[in-house]
Amino acid sequence: MGDKIQLLPEHLANQIAAGEVIQRPASVVKELLENAVDAGADDILLIVEEAGKRLIQVVDNGCGMSETDARMSFERHATSKIRDIDDLYRIRTMGFRGEALASIAAVAEVEMRTRPADQQLGTCIEIANGRILRQEPCACQPGTQVQVKNLFFSVPARRHFLKSDAVELRHIWEEFNRVALAFPEVGFSFIYEGELQLRLEKSSLKQRVLQLLGKSYADKLIAVQEKTPDLYIHGFVGKPDTAKKSRGDQYFFVNRRFIRSNYLHHAISSALAPMIPADSHPVYVLFLNVDPAEIDVNVHPTKQEIKFGDEKMIYAFVQAAVRHALAVASVTPALDFEL
Ligand code: ADP
Ligand code: MG
Repeated sequence: MGDKIQLLPEHLANQIAAGEVIQRPASVVKELLENAVDAGADDILLIVEEAGKRLIQVVDNGCGMSETDARMSFERHATSKIRDIDDLYRIRTMGFRGEALASIAAVAEVEMRTRPADQQLGTCIEIANGRILRQEPCACQPGTQVQVKNLFFSVPARRHFLKSDAVELRHIWEEFNRVALAFPEVGFSFIYEGELQLRLEKSSLKQRVLQLLGKSYADKLIAVQEKTPDLYIHGFVGKPDTAKKSRGDQYFFVNRRFIRSNYLHHAISSALAPMIPADSHPVYVLFLNVDPAEIDVNVHPTKQEIKFGDEKMIYAFVQAAVRHALAVASVTPALDFEL
């Protein structure tokens, strides 16, 4: 029998790989916002049309890219953020795999304009189906803007599986909120269908939380802060009467990366358990900082799960921090029962 294995063409390999990272418009929003933050931007604009199916654009005032970097940025496994395997355990940036732009360009039409502040002219690159259609010098603001049009136009099956605009837009808001909560020192604007939906000025974490979760939390937030030589947690939990039947408004970040962890959710809700009904979920926005060497962020395609060296210890720390915060705020089971 003859040999049967052949190498997939690069573009097809990229389209397949894109399926892991780019599942829906909100995934593009996440990747572009994270790139803007990683580029050191302190003002970021998100523009979306048709729930991201027609247009997703992110404009930042970050470091920009040279002409060569602009082209390189669309190559798969091309990144400025790590160089060797050890760097994986020193990660301070949101990105590190060098996959996002290559993936997006494999399944959409992309136009990038970018300019480092110290250069007169920027670079404009247009890519569709993973191929560079045009690259030329251009006049543009310092920073980077990436326009992603007609997502999944070349992958009809994917496009077909997208949900209604309302649902896709909700996912986009969710990603926007996560990044905006994690970086209150950065200004964000969100324009949808030509209308400004939200402008977030640079602010404190508390102001940012109130802007995104709602002013009704103004006197409903309990500050959490706890430190050991290796761990630091800070943020807010909602007072017991803000607990909700539905999940949502639960944000847990590790080194500023939003993660989902039922285990750590349990650590937090168990601290509040005596004070809230069994079928309710507490509201929280908490940031845990750990030594990057103690976690593995490379276990999930969209990095929403991470592995801790000692998860039990983290659980105990988070639970104790929330309990302590409740005690300091004199929110105790006994008191609550009297009310
Ligand atoms: P990663 O973020 O994992 O490195 P990406 O595909 O998202 O991979 O981006 C590839 C590279 O392109 C980044 O490492 C960075 O050097 C550069 N880049 C992407 N977006 C921006 C941006 N908005 N500003 C400056 N550089 C960027
Ligand atoms: Mg990235």
